[in-house]
Amino acid sequence: MTAVAENTATTGTALRDGAFGNARALACRECGHEVDLGPFYACPECFGPLEVSYDFPAVTREEIAAGPRNIWRYKALLPVPADIEQSPNTEPGFTRLLKAHNLGRELGIDNLWVKDDSTNPTNSFKDRVVACALSAARELDAKVFACPSTGNLANAVAAAGARAGIKTVVFIPSNLEKPKQVNSAVYTENLVAVNGNYDDVNKLASEIAGEEEGWAFVNVNVRPFYAEGSKTLGYEIAEQLGWRLPDQIVIPVASGSQLTKVHKAFGELIRLGLVEDKPYKVYGAQATGCSPVSVAYKAGVDAIRPVKPDTIAKSLAIGNPADGIYVLDICRETGGAVEDISDDEVREGILLLARTEGIFTETAGGTTVGVLKKLVESGELDPTLETVVINTGMGLKTLDAVSDHVGPRATIAPSYGAFTAAGIV
Ligand SMILES: *Cc1c(COP(=O)(O)O)cnc(C)c1O
Ligand SMILES: [Zn+2]
Repeated sequence: MTAVAENTATTGTALRDGAFGNARALACRECGHEVDLGPFYACPECFGPLEVSYDFPAVTREEIAAGPRNIWRYKALLPVPADIEQSPNTEPGFTRLLKAHNLGRELGIDNLWVKDDSTNPTNSFKDRVVACALSAARELDAKVFACPSTGNLANAVAAAGARAGIKTVVFIPSNLEKPKQVNSAVYTENLVAVNGNYDDVNKLASEIAGEEEGWAFVNVNVRPFYAEGSKTLGYEIAEQLGWRLPDQIVIPVASGSQLTKVHKAFGELIRLGLVEDKPYKVYGAQATGCSPVSVAYKAGVDAIRPVKPDTIAKSLAIGNPADGIYVLDICRETGGAVEDISDDEVREGILLLARTEGIFTETAGGTTVGVLKKLVESGELDPTLETVVINTGMGLKTLDAVSDHVGPRATIAPSYGAFTAAGIV
C-alpha cells in the first residue's frame, strides 16, 4: 500500500473476522485495482476513488423482510458485520414512500411517489451514510468521528457519535444556516466553524486526516464505507414498490455520491434477482448557483469545471463534486438528465411540496421538486411513467429560505367581529 491510499484512521488494532460483512475488497472505480478493506480511499495505482465490492451470498426478499424496520434489514448488502444491530447507532432508514396524488395532479404526472427521508433521526438522508461510516470507524478502532459538512452531515455525525459514545469533531462553513449549526452543537461540544466555503472545509479535513492519528472522517478517509449507506435508499424504494424498480427517479446532487449509489443499488437488486431487470432513467437536480454537473451535462462535456457556490441550497453547495463525473455517466447512460433551477424556483419547490403533500422540505428538496417540475415542462421527463422524487431533508433546518415569503394572512383582535372584518372566509 502506498501513502496515497493510506491514512491514520486506524490505530493499528487487528481487524476482527467479518468486520465488513460480505464486502470483499476496495476496488478502484477507474482501473479496477483492488486493495484490502481498510481506511483507504484513493487508488494507489491511479488515484481513482475506491469503492466497496462484495461477494454476495444468495439473499431472498423474505430474509430482508424479516429484518428490522431500518437500514440493517439490508445488512447482507452493506460493509457491516452480521452483529451490527448490537452496536448503538441511530437506526435510520425505512422512511415512508408516499404516493403523491396531489403533486402528481399539479404537475401532470400520472404515477408519482415521494421518498421522504426528512423523517430520519436527524431529519436528513445523511443518517444512512453516517450509520455505515460509524460501523467502519468502530471496526477500525478510530478514536475520533469527524466530517467536513454542508450541514446535515455534521448533524448526523454529531448525533451518531453521541449515541455511540465516541468523540466527535464536525467542521462546517461559518456562514451555515443557524438551525443547522444548533442541530450539531446540541450533540457535540466540538462544532468547528471554518471561514471558507465547503470546498475549503473539505480540504482542511483531508489535511487533518493525513496528520492526526485515529481520526475517521466519514466522507474522507472512510468514504467508501460511508457512500454504501446511500444504497439503502435504492433498496427501500424497490422494496416499498413491491420489489420493483421505478421507471424514473429524480435525485439531488451535491458530491453526487447519493445518486451514484442509488444506481448501484438498483443494479445489485437486478443482479441478485430481487427485482426484474428493466430500464430506468436517473435524473440529477442542482441549484443554478452551484450547478457544475448540470453545466457539464448541458454542454455535452465529460469534465466538470469547479465553481464557487452561491445559492440558498447550501446542503447542495459543493463546487467541486467528487462523484460528479459518475453522475454524468449514469444520467446519460440511463437516458435521464441533469437540470438546475434558480433560488426563486427552489423556494417555489418548497412551497409546492408543502401545499400539495403536507411535507416541509429543506432547500435541497425544493431543488429536487423544482427540477422535477422543470423536467416535465421541458418534456425531458415522461409524465406517463412511474416516477420517484427523493426528499432528502427537513424544512425546519432552512426556515430562512421561506420565512419572508409566508406568514399570517391577518393579525386580528380576539373577537368575532374582527375575524369577519378580516375577510378570511
Ligand atoms: C448531502 C445532501 C445531499 C446530497 O448528497 P451527495 O451524496 O453529496 O450528492 C442531498 N440532500 C441533502 C439534504 C443533503 O444533506
Ligand atoms: Zn485505479
